[in-house]
Amino acid sequence: MLAPTGRDGPLTIEILARADMAAVLARDVEDLCALAVSGVAALLIAEEVLVPAAAGRVAELIARQEPWSDLPVVVFTGAGGTIQGRRPTVASLAPLGNVTLLERPVQIMTLVSAVRAAIRERRRQFATRGHLEALAASVQSRDRFIATLGHELRSPLSAIAMSSELLDRGGIDPARARAILQRQSAKITRLVEDLLDVARVTSGKIALERRRVDLRDVVARALDGIDDAAARAGVRLVVEVPPSPVLLEGDPVRLDQILANLAGNAVKYTPAGGAITVRVGADGGRAQVRVRDTGIGIAPELLERIFEPFAQADHALQRAQGGLGLGLALVRGLAALHGGTVRAESAGPGQGSEFVLELPAGLSAAEPDRGAEPAPPAMPRRCVLVVEDSDDNRETVVMLIEAFGHGTAAAADGPSGVRTALETRPDAAVIDIGLPGFDGYEVARRIRSALGASVLLVALTGYGRPEDKQRAYEAGFDVHLTKPADAATLGRVLAATPRA
Ligand code: ADP
Repeated sequence: MLAPTGRDGPLTIEILARADMAAVLARDVEDLCALAVSGVAALLIAEEVLVPAAAGRVAELIARQEPWSDLPVVVFTGAGGTIQGRRPTVASLAPLGNVTLLERPVQIMTLVSAVRAAIRERRRQFATRGHLEALAASVQSRDRFIATLGHELRSPLSAIAMSSELLDRGGIDPARARAILQRQSAKITRLVEDLLDVARVTSGKIALERRRVDLRDVVARALDGIDDAAARAGVRLVVEVPPSPVLLEGDPVRLDQILANLAGNAVKYTPAGGAITVRVGADGGRAQVRVRDTGIGIAPELLERIFEPFAQADHALQRAQGGLGLGLALVRGLAALHGGTVRAESAGPGQGSEFVLELPAGLSAAEPDRGAEPAPPAMPRRCVLVVEDSDDNRETVVMLIEAFGHGTAAAADGPSGVRTALETRPDAAVIDIGLPGFDGYEVARRIRSALGASVLLVALTGYGRPEDKQRAYEAGFDVHLTKPADAATLGRVLAATPRA
C-alpha cells in the first residue's frame, strides 16, 4: 500500500494501479503518519507538502521505527537545481532514512520502478521481522524450558536433601527415608532419560531391539509401580486383558516406556476418587491398548498439541502437576518407531481422557515366545575392582557390590586402576569412563591385555549413546551400563562372571 500526498496524488494512484500496485491518498501529513504505522510498504510525498513542521513529523516517524524497519520514503521534488541549500526540509529528511528523491517531471517508468523497488525492499524487511520474532519466541521458549527443568530437578533434589538430613538427625524412619530416596532419584533418572530420549527420537537415533512379546505381559510390567502411585493418589486402577496372548514384534523396554508414560499421566491428571482403566485388545492386524481415566480431561484444541515436545512448557497447561511436557512426544515417537500410532480422545475439560495406542500385531498365538527373561542365577562370591573418581559414586558402588556378597578393591584414577588390577587380579572390574590420568577405555585396554579374556570388564558411565557403547566394546569392555545403573542388573552381570 502506498500513501501518495499532494497534487499529483490521483494521477500517481492511477499509474500505480495500472502496474498492479494499490495506493491510498493521505489527506494531510497526520493522515500520512497514521497510514505509515498501519503497515504501508512505502510513503510517496510531494515536496511542497513538506513544510518544516510536516518534515519534522515525517523525520520523527522515521526515527521512531522498530530496529528491523527502514520505511522507504519517495519524495517528488521540483524540477532542476541542487537539493542542498534550495530545499532545506527535504535536505534534512534525506539523510535520516531510506529516502529516494524523484525529480519532476517524473517518467512513468521511473515512478513504477522506484515504487516496485521500495515494495520489494519492504517485503524483505517484513521477512526479517518474521525471523526476528521467531528467534525471540524460540529464545523465550528455551528460557521457559530451562526454568521448568530447574524446577523439575529442584523438587526431587530437595526431597533427597531433606530426607538425608532427617536421617542424620534420626528424625525419620530409615525405611521411609529409603522409599523417598528411591522414588525421588527414580524421578530424576526418568527426567534425564526422557530428555535424552526425546532428543534421540526426534533425530531418529533410537534403534529398537525387537523381540516377540505378549502385550499383556508388557502392560503388567509397566503397571507394576504405577499401581502404588495410583493407590497413593487415591485412584482406582483396573486392568482388562484378553484371555489369549496378544503377540507382536516390539522392543519391550520401549513399549514399557510408552505404557508407563500413558498410565503415569492418567494417575497424574486424575484427582482422588477417580478411576483408570487399561484395556488390552487385538483387532485384525492391530494390537491396541486403551488407557482411560476419569480425570481433568483435555480441551479439543489441545488433543494434538500435547504430543509436541515441551507442549506443557509452551502452552502453560497443567503446571501444578509438574513434568516437562516430554512424555507424550516420546510416546508418539516410540509408537511410530514400532509402526504404530497414539492419539488422545476427550469430551473436554473435566470429562476424563482416553489415550489409544495401536501397534501392528498379527503373530499367531501358536508361535513360541522366546522373549521370556532367564531367572537370575544364584550369586557366587567374586573379587570385583571398582575404578571411579567420584568418591561418593565409588563408595556406593563398592557398598552395593559388597552387599551382593562379593569382595572389592577400589581405585580413583586410570593409572592406579590398572596397577590395582595387576596386583589383585580381580574376576571383574567396574570402570567409569571419565577418569584422571587416562580414561576408562585405556584402563580397559591395559587390563585386558595384561589379564586376558577371563576378567569381566563392565563400563559404568554417564555416556549412554549407541556410539559410546560401541566405543566401550571396541576398547575391550564386555558390558556397558549407563548411570544410574539398576542395582539388580549390576548384580546379575557380576553373578554371571566366570572365575579366573
Ligand atoms: P507432562 O506430563 O510432563 O506435562 P506429557 O507430554 O506427558 O508431559 O503431557 C503433556 C500434557 O498433556 C500435560 O501437561 C497435560 O496437560 C496433558 N495430559 C497428558 N495426559 C493427560 C491425561 N491423562 N489427562 C489430562 N491431560 C493430560
